Amino acid sequence: MSFTHPHILSLADFTPEDYNTVLQTAASFSDVLSRPTKKAKKLPTLQGRVVTNLFFEPSTRTRSSFELAAKRLSADTLNFAPGSSSLSKGETILDTAKTYLAMGTDIMVIRHKESGVPQAIAAELDRLNANVGVLNAGDGQHEHPSQALLDLFTLCFLLDPQSPRLELLAGKKIAIVGDIVHSRVARSNLWSLTATQCEVHLAAPPTLLPQYFAQYVSTESQERPGKLFVHWSAEPALQDADFVMTLRLQKERMAQHLLPSAREYHHRFGITRDRLKLCKPGVKVLHPGPVNRGVEISSDLMDDPEFSLISQQVSSGVAVRMALLYLMGG
Ligand code: ASP
Repeated sequence: MSFTHPHILSLADFTPEDYNTVLQTAASFSDVLSRPTKKAKKLPTLQGRVVTNLFFEPSTRTRSSFELAAKRLSADTLNFAPGSSSLSKGETILDTAKTYLAMGTDIMVIRHKESGVPQAIAAELDRLNANVGVLNAGDGQHEHPSQALLDLFTLCFLLDPQSPRLELLAGKKIAIVGDIVHSRVARSNLWSLTATQCEVHLAAPPTLLPQYFAQYVSTESQERPGKLFVHWSAEPALQDADFVMTLRLQKERMAQHLLPSAREYHHRFGITRDRLKLCKPGVKVLHPGPVNRGVEISSDLMDDPEFSLISQQVSSGVAVRMALLYLMGG
């Protein structure tokens, strides 16, 4: 297994081997996390390392998941919260990062509402020869690599828990329904899903899915054999789908009103039991969270384990993030 990324900022440069390395590593950590005794769930792998969570934008799942992943690997963790920090006194983001560097940080996990901040910090740390790995935990509407990797793990683990691998998705139809244009989750998922021969069908109102979006990744090449389709209604995307990924309306990233109302959106694009009848039998639904119940997905469906993989995504998230921290710093 070779993994040569000093930082994980985007999935654009991930190869099928990289995906499979992450999936296999996450599978072994998932075994560790399911050990019967609490004590056995903790490994000494990153003892003495410092993992710093720099979250300039709110987060529940991602921040806690990275923190737990680091702690399960016995790393020391630091958590930066912008509200109570020196940012409010005028410190720049780069100076904040350098402060944590001076404290001996080995890996920085960074979230920011502006696209490109983790990249800028990684470039500055490289310029300083700091030997610190940067993990993008969501930058603006650009990318959210760890979310897409945990989505990939959730799907592949479901298909073969003994040996989750990218190729298991070949021949599958995956619908991504929701606020595509503002979604860093969708962008990262496009890279991972089209790395194998599956069909990805995007569906949203035209204001949330411009035609040009299909060119975001160029598919059907030897390196990127997946096929990408764009629909402005939910039905053609859902028809015979094996998996449905639904996304939150990212109101905080909408500069103007792009929808008549959440109610109207639910009526046309909300994932409901009725709509799922269009899909293949056994269809499963994913959502990166946080969920707006009754908007992008009906409340009862979200809680129905027959369809919903939402809890599995959260559990997989810890194993996948342990894998990423291990591969970067272990
Ligand atoms: N948690 C995901 C993100 O940080 C999705 C969302 O916020 O809707 O991008």
